Amino acid sequence: MPILKSVLLKVKSLVESMVFADTLVIGAGPAGLQAAIYASRSRSKTIVVGKTKLSGLAKAHIENYCCIDGQLQGSGFLENGVEQAKSFGTEILEQEILKVDKVDDEFKVYTDEGMEIIAKALILATGVRRNKLGVKGEEEYIGKGVSYCIDCDAYFFKGKTVAVVGEGPAAVSGALLMRAYAQKGYLISERLDVGERLRSQLEASEIEILQHGIREIQGDQKVRRLVFTDESSLDVDGVFVELGQKGAVGLVSGMGVLLNDDGYIMTNKSQETNVPGLFAAGDVCGPPFQVAKSVGEGCVAGLSAVKYVRKIK
Ligand SMILES: Cc1cc2nc3c(=O)[nH]c(=O)nc-3n(C[C@H](O)[C@H](O)[C@H](O)COP(=O)(O)OP(=O)(O)OC[C@H]3O[C@@H](n4cnc5c(N)ncnc54)[C@H](O)[C@@H]3O)c2cc1C
Repeated sequence: MPILKSVLLKVKSLVESMVFADTLVIGAGPAGLQAAIYASRSRSKTIVVGKTKLSGLAKAHIENYCCIDGQLQGSGFLENGVEQAKSFGTEILEQEILKVDKVDDEFKVYTDEGMEIIAKALILATGVRRNKLGVKGEEEYIGKGVSYCIDCDAYFFKGKTVAVVGEGPAAVSGALLMRAYAQKGYLISERLDVGERLRSQLEASEIEILQHGIREIQGDQKVRRLVFTDESSLDVDGVFVELGQKGAVGLVSGMGVLLNDDGYIMTNKSQETNVPGLFAAGDVCGPPFQVAKSVGEGCVAGLSAVKYVRKIK
């Protein structure tokens, strides 16, 4: 009898840790939350797994999103998204997905808290991880002069002295864009690696190129200077780190998902990948890394997933 009881308890705990969904969304940023709002409002059982505090938007203030009055606090925006998604029936799990398998027509997903989620459609909205400089002062001054998004933040540096740090085309294009706002612009690059076209645009601009390694970012309430590895320094108001970013695509790499030349998930206009039932939205699909694009793609992915689930049910 005690053996039977323990077997029954094991089966019970296994069943309790197994959850079923029509649509599972990985990512609780603007792309994932918008996808969930559309899917759950269409009466499709929807689960979101992800942490809003890990969204790229969590520490940002945005003022380029349509129809907002003034500046919008990223964290508050995400909290509203969570409540809105829940109000339509979305279940939100603040966990991390460790593994994703596709077995026949279903996705099996495993979380860090031991849950197994089985879903008919999967939406990947895992954002990107920005490459960091990894120097003293960098973390401390994020949002106080250190930025990873020139498209988003160049406007805040109107009339200031700004340095862009990076080696490749994104750094040079960013420096050229930033120059339209800043009073003085520097490109800090140990080994510039760009083609002839960008190189000549850079030469024709007033951007000063400095070949230095960076040791530290210093300041008080805000960024004030860059300290180089040879101990010299440069007074700046802002530092844009443009060292590229990695899409969080590792989770689905075993499924044969097609990526574009830059390593982002490839989708069609319905946000479908080449794997049936797998959709992607937001930064994980590549630049521009903007909330407006993420929300738009999330909407399309949510609607497409619902259509797919109805078709296979
Ligand atoms: C400092 C800063 C300032 C910015 N300013 C602006 C701006 O002014 N205007 C603008 O339009 N955009 C701005 N952006 C960009 C904007 O924040 C992003 O484009 C947007 O957040 C992307 O949305 P997303 O949903 O694709 O990804 P994210 O918002 O990054 O969300 C990714 C989600 O995936 C989850 N996730 C990842 N891996 C896993 C896993 N294994 N398991 C579970 N969950 C996982 C994370 O927890 C997170 O919830 C800024 C970004 C930064 C960093």
